[in-house]
Amino acid sequence: MLDAIVIGLGAMGSAALCQLARRGQKVAGFEQFGLAHDQGSSHGASRIIRMAYYEDPAYVPLLRRSYELWRQLERDTGEPLLHLTGGLMLGPAGSAPVRGSLASAREHGLDHEVMDAAETGRRYPPLHLAAEEIALLDPEAGYLNPEACLGALARQASGSGAELHWQEPVEAWEVDEPNGCVVVRTGRGRYEAGRLLLCGGAWMPKLLEPPGLPLTPTRQVMAWFAPAANAAAFAPDRFPIYIWQPEGELAFYGFPATGAASEGVKVARHAVPDPCTADSVDRQIRASDIEAIRTRIARRIPDLNGRLLAAKTCMYTMTPDAHAILGFHPRHERVLVAGGFSGHGFKFAPVIGKILADLALEGRTRHPIALFSPRRF
Ligand SMILES: Cc1cc2nc3c(=O)[nH]c(=O)nc-3n(C[C@H](O)[C@H](O)[C@H](O)COP(=O)(O)OP(=O)(O)OC[C@H]3O[C@@H](n4cnc5c(N)ncnc54)[C@H](O)[C@@H]3O)c2cc1C
Repeated sequence: MLDAIVIGLGAMGSAALCQLARRGQKVAGFEQFGLAHDQGSSHGASRIIRMAYYEDPAYVPLLRRSYELWRQLERDTGEPLLHLTGGLMLGPAGSAPVRGSLASAREHGLDHEVMDAAETGRRYPPLHLAAEEIALLDPEAGYLNPEACLGALARQASGSGAELHWQEPVEAWEVDEPNGCVVVRTGRGRYEAGRLLLCGGAWMPKLLEPPGLPLTPTRQVMAWFAPAANAAAFAPDRFPIYIWQPEGELAFYGFPATGAASEGVKVARHAVPDPCTADSVDRQIRASDIEAIRTRIARRIPDLNGRLLAAKTCMYTMTPDAHAILGFHPRHERVLVAGGFSGHGFKFAPVIGKILADLALEGRTRHPIALFSPRRF
């Protein structure tokens, strides 16, 4: 009999498994694929992390803790994970990224700088803002390498005594109330534990019993381009991460050149409303996927509009309000749910792991999670 079982060893599940093992729990994690695979939501070489959070100022305390925990994981594993570049939130003054990040910066007294279009262009020559657009600079922003992060979490979990079951899909789970446990079945065995954590990413709708929670996986595409000119201007010590919300359009975002020159510079549209299921998502890249990205960079970052070097699909699991669902399963107190990270969860993984461990062991957490209550729907 285990203390806890975690289903899904992506970002959230690995972090939770790690925390539980470090607190002396006998735990096992199950993953249908291998370590840091590219079929879910946690691949593609880079994930933005930023402090002046436009989605809601309530995220800032969680971000402070996440930064500390990523740095601690770096120290513990000797693996560089978090790279600070600064970050620009771009768009008209009333756009969500600019207005929201300014609100968070003011509420929490965060360092920030507001620049007009001309000043932004002088400091970051590849960026061509429309006259009415402005920039908020978040000096604490940067990026994480998701594959390196998952590797570090898995090593730390197994070093702390967790069992990691790769390539072992969970076929069914149930709560056995009379015996006070949960039962998990895979093709290889039957496992019992006191607690179950569902961390299935885009597979959550399948893992949750009906009536389920409002979780909608969506297909997203990330692309890597070779700069057409001024490649040196995209170096990480000169070029920041950015999120750009032009008037009346979906936001797009990108990174500096985080890898070798041959890997190019990554850019993507944010939260494209393209519902899918995790098992049937179309992973082929279509000409229209790339065209939609090129249209944005042709106008705003023309130096980046060079040869397409790579493109990959990924999934966001959306909730109606784009805040995650984190807490106890509405019908089973032995089961915890962590899903619906709505395309912005990666940066929070270590603090989500702590929160899940708190809930599993103590039934509550001191971290602010009201925003994520499963009961709000
Ligand atoms: C293109 C893209 C860009 C993004 N950019 C950012 C960003 O810049 N910053 C940011 O913070 N976030 C970003 N995100 C969001 C972030 O990556 C996700 O919120 C986060 O990775 C979700 O983690 P997860 O653990 O919920 O899902 P995953 O990492 O996908 O893990 C779920 C795991 O569960 C496994 N699983 C499911 N069902 C079973 C089963 N029955 N048995 C065994 N295993 C199972 C899956 O195989 C999978 O490995 C982005 C996402 C995408 C797709």
